[in-house]
Amino acid sequence: MRNWVHLDKEYIWHPFTQMREWLQADNIIIERADGVYLYDTNGNKYLDGISSLWVNIHGHRKKEIDEAIINQINKVSHSTLLGLGSSPSIELAEKLVQISPPKLQKVFYSDSGSTAVEVALKIAFQYWKNRGYEEKRLFVGLDQAYHGDTIGSVSLGGIDIFHSIFHPLLFHTLVIPTPFPYRNPDLTAEQLRDQCLNTFEKIAEERGSEIAALIVEPLVQGAAGMIVHPEGFLKGLETICRKHKILLICDEVATGFGRTGAMFACEQEAVEPDILCLAKGLTGGYLPLAATLVSNEIFEAFLGSYTEYKTFFHGHSYTGNALACAAAQACLEIFEKDHVLENLEPRIMFLENLLREKLGALPHVGDIRQCGMMVGIELVEDKALRRTFPVELGMGVRVTQDIRKHGIILRPLGDVVVIMPPLAIEIDEIKTMVTAVEKSINEMCGI
Ligand SMILES: *Cc1c(COP(=O)(O)O)cnc(C)c1O
Repeated sequence: MRNWVHLDKEYIWHPFTQMREWLQADNIIIERADGVYLYDTNGNKYLDGISSLWVNIHGHRKKEIDEAIINQINKVSHSTLLGLGSSPSIELAEKLVQISPPKLQKVFYSDSGSTAVEVALKIAFQYWKNRGYEEKRLFVGLDQAYHGDTIGSVSLGGIDIFHSIFHPLLFHTLVIPTPFPYRNPDLTAEQLRDQCLNTFEKIAEERGSEIAALIVEPLVQGAAGMIVHPEGFLKGLETICRKHKILLICDEVATGFGRTGAMFACEQEAVEPDILCLAKGLTGGYLPLAATLVSNEIFEAFLGSYTEYKTFFHGHSYTGNALACAAAQACLEIFEKDHVLENLEPRIMFLENLLREKLGALPHVGDIRQCGMMVGIELVEDKALRRTFPVELGMGVRVTQDIRKHGIILRPLGDVVVIMPPLAIEIDEIKTMVTAVEKSINEMCGI
């Protein structure tokens, strides 16, 4: 048998990874998967507690998705959308338009969350230019936002350890504060929300004529550590955008496809973005595919004769890939056929109660944040003072490494333990997972 751990170290540069640590570690190499479980090259079984980095929805080896891809392979795996149409991409786009907020009518495909955002930014920028508002070219983002790793999406990113190093390469943006209740204990969630909205309102009043769009992760800022916004924040942002003719871009790359309990997070506050970015869960976690949905109003601003240069000159080689579109189509059919969202509700409630019961009183759990199946558990050294552990301790990593011995895969965000299982997870599997989290937190942080 080949020594996979060794060969991986020989050839692979892993993303978001300090490779010196990786090269010294005893790493897990995944060979196969089934349902919510991953199996490594030694035959060990692990519950996929983070949906393979937030992408998996209905579990691995889901029969309907496997078959949809195989059926599509037997027709064609890929043909270009430049100059040609492709039936799976049309079918999927029709479906996406049906299930997303009514304002969104056109679908632009790409391959990852980052490119979905990149496309959204370029469309917003050119939209105003095409309409003759040359000065509307600034973007507003939120503090601690994460929108991907390409230069445009990093420009709107606010997570210092990921983004500050690239600062000289980025374009200028305006940043508004994130309403993060746990870090602002002196205010009520409503006061905090209104304070952040007021900051945006003020910027919009002063510079609205220069602002193309606001981009926001609706309801939950995932990579920032599962920061759940106070109720009404998203609606408030939308109201200000409308008033000052600022486009609203919702980045639902993480929150989309049921993760917050609704198909899309923006539905929960009856918000209709002008542009919607989708990726991660779109193919159920099978293949790289992204979509940027826009309103007819935006689409129409790009119409004209070729020499007017209103064309959107952007596209990737694998845009609208047929296999990925077939997988996505099957993934969306499962939502309907298996009543996934309806069945999710009791599981979300169960998870919420169990987290409170098992972890709520632990001395080193400072905050438990949850929105649907997105959970962040903040580890602290001193609960009463909300004091964090020293960074050198790497407490988040320690806890999530320890939990592997209980047969669970998690990946932290700093000292926030993230739980984000496939929507297909069963009640008893939720219980196994939360019980193991409790054990590992107690063992690693001390009781
Ligand atoms: C993951 C993520 C992205 C980037 O998606 P990639 O497919 O990794 O490029 C963008 N926005 C949000 C909110 C995300 O969580």
